[in-house]
Amino acid sequence: MNCKNCEGSSFVQATDYINLRPLDKKIAIGSEKVYTVCLECGEVVSIKIKNPEKLK
Ligand SMILES: [Zn+2]
Repeated sequence: MNCKNCEGSSFVQATDYINLRPLDKKIAIGSEKVYTVCLECGEVVSIKIKNPEKLK
């Protein structure tokens, strides 16, 4: 995988520890987001939800 912005190939996975929750379920615990960030330029190449089943 290479960064689409700078073609770099060093990445780190990071999270802001803020859970993403479904719009219609405000009391749901939700799931943390995991960002894959390019270490060269800071581009976020991917955002994933850690536990997608918690958004159901
Ligand atoms: Zn980059």
